[in-house]
Amino acid sequence: RDEEEGWELGFEDEEWDRTLKSAAVFSFRDGIEELVEGLVRALEEEPRVELKTGVDVVGVSLDSETKSFEIRLANGETVQASHIISALPLPVLSTLLPSPTSVPHLTVNPFATVMVLNLVFATAHFKEPLHPPGFGYLIPRPEVGYDTQSEEESKTPGILGVVFDTASLAAQDYSVSVEGGSGSGDEVKFIKMTAMLGGPYPISSAEIDLDEVLTQLSVHLGTILPKPVYHKFHRNANSIPTYLPGHVDRVAEMRKVLEEDWSGRLKIIGAGVGGVSMSDCIKAGREAAREIVRQGDFVL
Ligand SMILES: Cc1cc2nc3c(=O)[nH]c(=O)nc-3n(C[C@H](O)[C@H](O)[C@H](O)COP(=O)(O)OP(=O)(O)OC[C@H]3O[C@@H](n4cnc5c(N)ncnc54)[C@H](O)[C@@H]3O)c2cc1C
Repeated sequence: RDEEEGWELGFEDEEWDRTLKSAAVFSFRDGIEELVEGLVRALEEEPRVELKTGVDVVGVSLDSETKSFEIRLANGETVQASHIISALPLPVLSTLLPSPTSVPHLTVNPFATVMVLNLVFATAHFKEPLHPPGFGYLIPRPEVGYDTQSEEESKTPGILGVVFDTASLAAQDYSVSVEGGSGSGDEVKFIKMTAMLGGPYPISSAEIDLDEVLTQLSVHLGTILPKPVYHKFHRNANSIPTYLPGHVDRVAEMRKVLEEDWSGRLKIIGAGVGGVSMSDCIKAGREAAREIVRQGDFVL
């Protein structure tokens, strides 16, 4: 079945197939946002779909007689549903259910906060490349373990790795002119990099010192990085669940409760359950939808 869908996605194109197989990383031309925009467009064209955006779910309850759900929204609206596929972060979901123990294990795993730093360097006047060719680099856990300084003491969060965007996803730079720009006919070139910081390292709530990060990156790269022409920090608070030992068993127990106490009508997916990668999340969504179609009892 996956193979059939692979063909639908265009894998019958041999060149595309070859390119994808040899790719270390892939994205979309205008960034990963294209995926969400494409999904929204497709759903909006579907008359049986009603999208409710920009409003939080504030509560979920199951009527044990009718086996139907009531989903309460922050704007006061309620939605009746025969089935729910929840892709909410698990700690959020746990606060929406009738009791925190309605579904087990939702708050066991901690979440890591990751700071992303986008950097753009103008390199027209640089003779040496800023970095070697390749995807980038990841920094392994220090032999002595992670820095245990408190968040406030640690001004610069540990660097986890750097992606060389211009080298690994050059096709995304199609709109950037490499000619002109300075008015003198000089060739203007840009190099994009993305540094990931934090995760297991404590992240200071104070502003991160860009110069200090650049100094660290310069040491890694064996060069002196120039001032970037653009930079932006993104703080992704509690964004990546870290599965503690026993996660697979806990997920199995959770699914058993969902089958028995919730008649299989509540499916829980997302990064907190079956894998944090985008493809894990997409696959879990597809499987949950298929299971509901197999169950077939849609009447409210
Ligand atoms: C910095 C970073 C880099 C990453 N890089 C990669 C990568 O290169 N490749 C890869 O495969 N994966 C990557 N990941 C992982 C991947 O992006 C995530 O694990 C995945 O997007 C999580 O998807 P999700 O749908 O489970 O959660 P989310 O995308 O977090 O979605 C949860 C949604 O629930 C909504 N929500 C919360 N509360 C409520 C509420 N009460 N009512 C209604 N809605 C609510 C939120 O607004 C949010 O939209 C990265 C993650 C991070 C943080």
